[in-house]
Amino acid sequence: MKIANVEVIPLIGATVDGGWPQGHEPEENLHTLIEITSDDGITGIGSCFTSGALIRGAMELLDPLLAGESTVEPERVTEKLRQATFWQGRGGAVEHAISGIDIALWDIMGKACGQPVSRLLGGIYRDRIKPYGSMLFDEPDVLRTRLQETVSRGFKAIKLGWRPFGRRDRKFDELLIRTARSTVGEDVELMVDAGGSEQFWPHGVNWARETAKMLADYDIVWFEEALPPDDIEGYIELTKTSPVPIAGGEVLTRRQSFIPWIERRAVDIIQPDCTKNGGLSESRRLAWLAFDHNVQMVSHGWNTAVGLAADLQLAAAMPVARYVEYLTPCAYIENLFVEPFELDAEGFLQIPTRPGLGFEIDRDKLETFRRR
Ligand SMILES: [Mg+2]
Repeated sequence: MKIANVEVIPLIGATVDGGWPQGHEPEENLHTLIEITSDDGITGIGSCFTSGALIRGAMELLDPLLAGESTVEPERVTEKLRQATFWQGRGGAVEHAISGIDIALWDIMGKACGQPVSRLLGGIYRDRIKPYGSMLFDEPDVLRTRLQETVSRGFKAIKLGWRPFGRRDRKFDELLIRTARSTVGEDVELMVDAGGSEQFWPHGVNWARETAKMLADYDIVWFEEALPPDDIEGYIELTKTSPVPIAGGEVLTRRQSFIPWIERRAVDIIQPDCTKNGGLSESRRLAWLAFDHNVQMVSHGWNTAVGLAADLQLAAAMPVARYVEYLTPCAYIENLFVEPFELDAEGFLQIPTRPGLGFEIDRDKLETFRRR
């Protein structure tokens, strides 16, 4: 049960437009899978939310540390990688690579034990969870059409993000929210993401608080990234006074970075991304810290099917978990597995209980994204 091979697989050809000023073309590489094979022939796959070039650079550093390592001790192995890369790591591409390695090792460990990862993470609290369809804001007419498409795919919760929300004026923001609510009706939950991690985000606490009041009028479930990601004092102030729950934390890496956000209650909902922050091991540790501080944890995932599969296993293993993020439409999620994700009539996803992360990757489909 030693690591025999590590393969870096950049995904290209169907990258979803992230809506940032620099855009994202389908041919841009923003997601990368890591496949690890053990010397007894078991394979595990992890997902990293960054480019293959950056992962390959990080692997130059990590490969010697992985040589001869166990495939069934994910927490110890990835903590060793983290501790050993204190000069070049402590976040960024190195941590993103460790994230994919960690997820792949959990997958192998589950297969080696014949158990779902959720059970190995501590136990199974639930067998299904509500995914929220994650999509971008747009001009009202386009927004209406795209929301109708998302509802028709079975989503009972939808998050709308940034472009052009928060970029024009208050009246336009309210028009977008009014359009969304009137399109989906009262029975579909709506979340709003300002995307405050965007470069040179101009708004502060007062803008965020006034916007939150408007969102409360439309029964919005949470308000995400209303401030720049380093403004922890602003978040603390906003969370104390906002009429809707405040969410954030998607760009944080390593569990230590989350501690002040959780201990100081900077957010109502913390959003770790296991494809960036250090993997399932790191997400599990900080999710329990959040639970013990009565801060809700909802995984962030601008994702692949592998990343979503990892989020599902974590959601099964936490005492409180209400949602997972589901980027939609997204070919890397919806067209990568032999059995694609399927929402039930109530808009929930069943959480797999097969060994490992519980999915089988479709090798032909994977090749179409690898080659292009
Ligand atoms: Mg976000």
